[in-house]
Amino acid sequence: STPTEQLKIVIVGHVDHGKSTFVGRLFHDTGSLPEGKLEQLQKIAERRGVPFEWANLMDALQSERDQNITIDTAQIWFQTKKRQYVIIDAPGHKEFLKNMITGAANAEAALLLIDANEGIQEQSRRHGYLLNLLGIRQIAVLVNKMDLQGYSQERFNQIEKDYRAFLKTIGVEPKLFIPIAAKHGDNIASKSANMTWWQGATVLEALDQFKVSDLPDNQPLRFPIQDVYRFDDRRILAGRIEAGSVKVGDKLLFSPSNKVSTVKTIERWNAPVSESANAGESIGITLTEQIFVERGAVAALETAPPYELNRFKARLFWLGRQPFKQGKIYKLKLATQEADCEIESIEKIIDASTLETISREGEKPYVGRHEVAELTIRTKRAVAFDKHIEIVPTGRFVIVDGFEVSGGGIVAEDNYPKRTSD
Ligand code: GDP
Repeated sequence: STPTEQLKIVIVGHVDHGKSTFVGRLFHDTGSLPEGKLEQLQKIAERRGVPFEWANLMDALQSERDQNITIDTAQIWFQTKKRQYVIIDAPGHKEFLKNMITGAANAEAALLLIDANEGIQEQSRRHGYLLNLLGIRQIAVLVNKMDLQGYSQERFNQIEKDYRAFLKTIGVEPKLFIPIAAKHGDNIASKSANMTWWQGATVLEALDQFKVSDLPDNQPLRFPIQDVYRFDDRRILAGRIEAGSVKVGDKLLFSPSNKVSTVKTIERWNAPVSESANAGESIGITLTEQIFVERGAVAALETAPPYELNRFKARLFWLGRQPFKQGKIYKLKLATQEADCEIESIEKIIDASTLETISREGEKPYVGRHEVAELTIRTKRAVAFDKHIEIVPTGRFVIVDGFEVSGGGIVAEDNYPKRTSD
């Protein structure tokens, strides 16, 4: 039988550290490849007199999917006995970092690959920093190509020690490190005979240990409205519960309009009606009083609303080709809200891979590509948000420059008043 539980993961790592090879092997070892596909590509390689590459297999599958326009090509699937896995970002995408900022925002776990031969690279550090910025807390680091290091336990321990030390400085604690050789399948679906010193989990075991959706139900309710549907005289407010839970009879406050109404019904698309819903669920609600609510509004319990202000402190990662400049207007997207915004002040600019300070307050009026900044952002109208450390989904945002997502960040801690008065 097919498991119905689903976990979204993102796989990151420096180019050539083995992401495609790893995904190919993972598909093969979980029996997720189309019948005969592997043999077909092995034959082609043989005929051409070139070695078979797992990465080519993934390229072939990807291009078949690209021709099948109807499905989302960024989503590749495999499954274990326990659940289905959706890979949010497939290897090989050109604008990889950008996809991470936009797509990985709803990944629930990450696998980060490091080449045992090359060791920790600038991108390995940048990716660690990004995962943290995006609030992905379930991380396993895969030390790949162990075969090129004679399956050395010392080499593995050294990489783990060095990378853990770096990650600690940014507050990231990976669940575990696993030594693998993607090319040969070591420690992916079964324990490696080449690394008998390894007593820990295989990659599949580690994946199955991750929790589906790290969203605690006992947080304050955050229900950003995605769409408003009208059926006759009924209005259904649709969206995904990003934190907390909601039940019929709850009194909701909608930001930024500050209107209040009571939940009359909770609707689901393919499931029976019920009296309550939890974080991670996509639902619709109807209200007892017909108040005007638009896409972008955030519903919360009246007793525990988000902040609603037009300035906040942030830590931001910039990817845009053009720098993020003081004095220019950009679009901010936070949950389902959109608002014009600009930089009010830049407190500090940090190099994302070394984490060294590049510039202090007032020294540089823009944030360059691949730089991280601590800054204050001002929005044209009040937006509803939370501190990232308290509620992740409403504590992060992206910045759009023109039509491009050019940066992403989190709402930093500060002494915010609950509501704005200016
Ligand atoms: P990506 O750019 O991260 O997707 O990396 P690829 O999957 O394309 O791999 C880059 C190269 O490393 C390819 O030539 C692979 O065959 C090789 N490679 C990947 N995994 C292993 C491994 O476990 N052992 C060895 N020896 N080579 C590997």
